[in-house]
Amino acid sequence: MKKIIQHLENSKQILLATHIEPDGDALGSLISMGLFLEAINKKTTLYCESPIPAIYRFLPGTERVVSTIDSISKYDTAIILDCGSLQRIGKMDELVGRVPTIINIDHHITNSYFGTYQFVETDSCATTALIYKLITVLGGRIDKDIAFSIYTGILTDTGSFRFSNTNMDSFAICEEMVSIGVDPHIVAQNVYGTYSLGRIKLLNLALDSLEISRNGKLSMMTLTESMLSKTDTQPEDVDGLINYAKRIEDVKVAVLLSEYPNGNSRLSNAKRYYHVSLRSDGSVDVAKIAALFEGGGHKTAAGFDIKTKLSDLKTDILNLSEKLSSG
Ligand code: AMP
Ligand code: MN
Ligand code: MN
Repeated sequence: MKKIIQHLENSKQILLATHIEPDGDALGSLISMGLFLEAINKKTTLYCESPIPAIYRFLPGTERVVSTIDSISKYDTAIILDCGSLQRIGKMDELVGRVPTIINIDHHITNSYFGTYQFVETDSCATTALIYKLITVLGGRIDKDIAFSIYTGILTDTGSFRFSNTNMDSFAICEEMVSIGVDPHIVAQNVYGTYSLGRIKLLNLALDSLEISRNGKLSMMTLTESMLSKTDTQPEDVDGLINYAKRIEDVKVAVLLSEYPNGNSRLSNAKRYYHVSLRSDGSVDVAKIAALFEGGGHKTAAGFDIKTKLSDLKTDILNLSEKLSSG
């Protein structure tokens, strides 16, 4: 962290980027770090390839996030947030890879330690908790706008303080953010209480698609492109649905297969692009499973992308259940 701080003191033009299909921690870390660097007179660009999910647009600063990069040569530094690999930022990975200094700030267990400098703590509950630490060590000021982003990142990445990554820091940092002026009800209302009707209808279809392996240890839900179009929903509306499959008693691993919309028009055969989300009850390391398919994540929450036939994918996933030990 010392080297990162020394470097940031001298850098002038900084590109900040986070992963595609951003969650609350991705956006929270992008915005909190961006607002902080601006406050100490750095020129910043906040980049995310995917649109900002509607539920996060209340965060002050989201209007600064752009989805294009015009000239890469002007940046002396790129900070990559909440990404286990540089590829997670999407199609601009090679271009961003040309920035002279790359700083990797993340908490995924599968982090590849890419970049010039790394601030990677895999036992941290969220990347926003690392941003909090960085600002604190720098002696910086956390204003109310920054506090909203840090709070939201920790709240969402811990599943509202329920997931196994929840620790003392989660509460201590969030308590401090509340003392700075964050209203927990406003955050909860925006993040969990403003779903479109389509999203609730999508939940209905997701629950209807539920399949359980013969030994009861694996649950699987499937969302197709047509379900998204029928309910007029976007990939962002899929976020969180897997938790219903994870809640079932005796289930050790929950899987959500979701077909990428608009990614399939050029594919003439039955193969399609899917995002596969994996969750475990803690007894199985799903990051290892995701890594087998070139994905990544955490021990209890991971994912990967695959182009395949749905029936083959389902068979492979259900076969995984046989390997889940008893007890
Ligand atoms: P998701 O299933 O998309 O909610 O993601 C669960 C966790 O796995 C998150 O921490 C993601 O950052 C990570 N993850 C998801 N998809 C990928 C992927 N294709 N490659 C690497 N990590 C991923
Ligand atoms: Mn994330
Ligand atoms: Mn995260």
